[in-house]
Amino acid sequence: MRAKLFSKLTLIYVSLLALLCFAVDIAAERDLRQFDLNRQVQDALVSNVRLRILIIFLCVAALGAAALLLFSMRFSARVRKIQEFLTRMGAGEFRPMSVEGPHDDLTLLIESANATAERLGHTIRSLGSERDRSSAILRSMVEGVGVIDAREHLVFWNRAFADILNIAPDAGDGQPVIEVVRNTAVLKLIRAALKGEDALKGNITTGIVQLRMFAVTAAPVRATDAANSQIGEKPSGAVVVLHDVTELRRLERVRQDFVANVSHEFKTPLTAIQGFAETLLGGALEDHKNNRRFLEIIRDHAAQLARVTDDLLKLARIEAGKLEVQLGPVSVADVVDLCTETALLRAQRKGIVVEAEIPPDLPPVRADARLLREVLQNLLDNAVQYTPLGGKIEVHAEAGPCEVTVAVSDTGIGIPLADQERIFERFYRVDAARSREVGGTGLGLSIARHIVETLGGKISVESEVGRGSRFSFSIPKAA
Ligand code: ADP
Repeated sequence: MRAKLFSKLTLIYVSLLALLCFAVDIAAERDLRQFDLNRQVQDALVSNVRLRILIIFLCVAALGAAALLLFSMRFSARVRKIQEFLTRMGAGEFRPMSVEGPHDDLTLLIESANATAERLGHTIRSLGSERDRSSAILRSMVEGVGVIDAREHLVFWNRAFADILNIAPDAGDGQPVIEVVRNTAVLKLIRAALKGEDALKGNITTGIVQLRMFAVTAAPVRATDAANSQIGEKPSGAVVVLHDVTELRRLERVRQDFVANVSHEFKTPLTAIQGFAETLLGGALEDHKNNRRFLEIIRDHAAQLARVTDDLLKLARIEAGKLEVQLGPVSVADVVDLCTETALLRAQRKGIVVEAEIPPDLPPVRADARLLREVLQNLLDNAVQYTPLGGKIEVHAEAGPCEVTVAVSDTGIGIPLADQERIFERFYRVDAARSREVGGTGLGLSIARHIVETLGGKISVESEVGRGSRFSFSIPKAA
């Protein structure tokens, strides 16, 4: 570069100098020939002048060439620095270059290149951090996100996407989506999005033993045309989002079941009340043999309605976290005494023996006495309810390292293994007709479980059909 510049400049310079010397030589010869001198003298003078012009030409040419060499060396060095700077910039390093030398056009060029590098560096840095942020967000999202390019290749996906669609952990970027994603519903949505269809939605279910449901949304990605900053017509890819709706669907089902259960609970007593009221109005009022019995039936069904309503309100209060809890040290022996006394009245009528065995040194628990009574009373009432004549009910309590466990055992009908897990659910009964007959609401154990959990404890059941059941709950000890 330097040699080329130097030789070109030197050639131009020497040519111009030679031309100048040649012109001077011609002018000098013409002037000398005008003098009235003999030809030999004139020739001698012309040769003399030509020699001097030649010497001057050589001296000036040598000096000029040296100056040009110096200039081209410095110029080339500066240009090389700019070249290195631009290469550095291409590799992503935007450190400015030092401005040295005379304040000429090259310096101005360096200054504007430095300003451009600074702006470019800033833009690239902010784009980089923006990309890192987006990528971190996408990777940490619980929703599955996948990006597919126009050639139907999977170019990005997060962990959730891989987990949901069972994508192998070693699947590399840019593989054809059909080879990686095996779900036809998802593939269909991706293809539709790549054709440009908007707002595509679908549902998929995954898993064999534990089913999980996902809402799938696919949308086309339209790249902006940099030239006219307009959004292109044809999608350059598609984005798929998978949203886990298993819990939502379960809650929907629970709500629907709940509404159906509540309606059912209300319908039976209401039908009976309506029927017997109409019978009475239709003339049975005068039937002195039956009118009192009919009224008693109406009263019993109304009482059942009131019980269901009370339990439902209680459950709603507990579930909404509005249960009033006054925690303090509570003596389990006192609670057991009070509850067994109440249960005894009904137990005696069925010839059931109720026994309580509480160690005298049992430490107090940290609980709300009223709520604890409600739990134990419920378990004792159930034990009386589901134990046939002449049975036995026992209440035991024992202290563990951090908690006190209270157990109510009966020699009753027992609960089949398949139902044991579900009896703590709202309205779940092993024998619904029998439960209703004896005034059960199907909500007692559900309320008991909620209360025990609110007090920081656990409730469980062990049972054998025909032999009896053992309900036990633990409550933390008072400090
Ligand atoms: P219910 O008002 O019907 O008693 P619960 O929620 O208290 O409602 O109990 C739910 C179901 O659990 C009952 O319907 C009954 O089938 C069963 N169950 C509860 N306690 C006992 C028990 N001690 N022995 C046998 N079955 C029981």
